[in-house]
Amino acid sequence: MRAAVLRDYNSDLSIEDVAEPECPTDGVVLKVLACGICRSDWHGWSGEHPRVKPGQIGGHEYCGEVVEAGPDSQWQIGDRLVAPFILACGSCPSCQSGNQNTCPNQRLPGFVEPGAFAEYVAVPMDHNLARLPDSLSPTVAAGLGCRVTTSWHALTGRAALQGGEWLAVHGTGGIGLSAALLGRGLGAYVVVVDVVQEKLDHALGLGIDAAVNASDGDAAEKIREITGGGAHVSVEALGIPVTVNSSITCLRPLGRHVQVGMPVGHTAHMEINMSAVYQRNLALYGTRGMPSWRYPSLLGLITSGRVDMSPLIAREVVLSQTGAELAAFNGPTPPGVAVITDFTR
Ligand SMILES: [Zn+2]
Ligand SMILES: [Zn+2]
Repeated sequence: MRAAVLRDYNSDLSIEDVAEPECPTDGVVLKVLACGICRSDWHGWSGEHPRVKPGQIGGHEYCGEVVEAGPDSQWQIGDRLVAPFILACGSCPSCQSGNQNTCPNQRLPGFVEPGAFAEYVAVPMDHNLARLPDSLSPTVAAGLGCRVTTSWHALTGRAALQGGEWLAVHGTGGIGLSAALLGRGLGAYVVVVDVVQEKLDHALGLGIDAAVNASDGDAAEKIREITGGGAHVSVEALGIPVTVNSSITCLRPLGRHVQVGMPVGHTAHMEINMSAVYQRNLALYGTRGMPSWRYPSLLGLITSGRVDMSPLIAREVVLSQTGAELAAFNGPTPPGVAVITDFTR
């Protein structure tokens, strides 16, 4: 099968013919229908992700059709499924308590196991998978493995965002724009922050209530003005010190900061304004992924029409363009995300 393989950090992925994956006894092999290209893939490509090594086939935001099912699989050939990027064991204390995204036995196609920058991907522990609603296109569904699910869990599973509250979103890439759209879908008021005016205009065009260009000065102060005293919930979607601190200081007393962006490399340890956390009685949440039992709530919101995730998709690309898309994350990116939909070229 054709796959895009990481051979050297920071250089184009190598398009190669590799062996098709073996089917796990407790899982399936999916023919990949669509796979998003995510900032986490870029962390792996640039050598900053602690677990991604040369030889890796990336791609963790995928959906696909079952072409082979193991003897212990619950799925049938032809089923169209979406997988969360964290595959949990289902039996450890974390899983048993409903927190599958913190499972210590987790499997990570695209980071450790071969991922979905390929025609086929093996998915073990297939109790994590969910059936794709017929009304959802694979291109839109690809984001439901990572960006959309992570945002959904950040807002509803962690910060408990309520309708009528103000949500601030720092960084409007794939995950930030997902959080903004889902926040609107939940009935919150949303203010987005970025340094790329085109992304802010795009968000405003999608019904987001307010936008702040961080290159114009103190974004946190502007948010406190817009929201009449500060946001109730703030999502940081980049993982860098300036936006983490802006996210913390844009909150009103008792506000909730959610760390969604992944701090890696030289930003893994950073200085944050702990005085503001103390003075304003703030809560700081970390979040990563989503337990798969929460898929029905998210899919229900999307299929009900209360939120349209299709504006998230900027372009469909072919497999051989994946390396160029990763390199584009080196600088400011235009609105929306790229999804691979053709794996033959
Ligand atoms: Zn991702
Ligand atoms: Zn587990």
